[in-house]
Amino acid sequence: MKCHCGKEAVVYLPYSKRYLCRNHFSTLVEKRFRRAIRDFNMLKKGDHVVVGYSGGKDSAVLLYLLKKLSAKMPIKITAVSIIEGIKDYRDQEVENELSKLPESLGIKHIFKYYKEELKLTIDEIAKKVRGSVCSYCGVFKRYILNETARKLKATKVAIGHNLDDVVETLYLNLIRNEPLRLVRYFNPIYKEGGFVPRIRPLMYVPEKEVALYSMLHNLGVIKECPYAHKSLRYFIRKQVNAMEERFPGTKFKLLRSFISLANELSRNASVKLNRCKRCGALTTSKLCMKCQMELALKGEKVEDYL
Ligand code: SF4
Ligand code: ZN
Ligand code: ZN
Repeated sequence: MKCHCGKEAVVYLPYSKRYLCRNHFSTLVEKRFRRAIRDFNMLKKGDHVVVGYSGGKDSAVLLYLLKKLSAKMPIKITAVSIIEGIKDYRDQEVENELSKLPESLGIKHIFKYYKEELKLTIDEIAKKVRGSVCSYCGVFKRYILNETARKLKATKVAIGHNLDDVVETLYLNLIRNEPLRLVRYFNPIYKEGGFVPRIRPLMYVPEKEVALYSMLHNLGVIKECPYAHKSLRYFIRKQVNAMEERFPGTKFKLLRSFISLANELSRNASVKLNRCKRCGALTTSKLCMKCQMELALKGEKVEDYL
């Protein structure tokens, strides 16, 4: 099949019934990346952006596109790779492989290790918890990225969440009865109490398209984490993908609905923040999520801190 320009198509987009060639497809992804940045005021000249870089397709594409953007909008970029301590997933060889992309882009790259930051690896946490380890991993990873960015005096933390990730996260918030998180998701608490604002410039790009872009541009090196298929997120993903297949465009529609909902909620909801009684971080509860999880892993009681 042919693109509208007459060249051979590399992709068919069912939600807009279009065939696109390599160039027109890449232009579309890059446009969506810039549009998300504009719509949510994610970046400005002079920002220092810490990029959570796992080496997977999403963070590799994010790093590549931010570097491309920095030619027009001067920003400083630091890539941070967090090594969770998962056997057969990340070893020295993988770490060496991970360094190649930042090196080739001329981006400073640093490693952070769960073992050093939390004194625990994900494999060790997995042995202690009954359910999915991913909720722990997500909270701890966010903490390490934020702490790293804070120490580097970075102004933004960028993560490679694509459209699918964002929709799944918002679904998870609803399932966990935490609708107010929607408000904070789209309106982060800028600069207050040590939070470095988080941005998600790939939020308008569907996962499949990030994957294709990474393939066409030779980006992304890491295979999927072995714990991924055990999470609730994995089941939500399957459901959302089934809906998208049956009704193309569903993911974009869900994102738009979540944004409207967040805007509506933000008019009426004021999010009250407290200091965590254990570590002092800002939180909507008495103890921050990271402390609650650390206590659960140590078998200590939350009440002892209240
Ligand atoms: Fe962590 Fe789960 Fe992601 Fe693996 S799949 S890196 S355990 S959040
Ligand atoms: Zn074309
Ligand atoms: Zn805390």
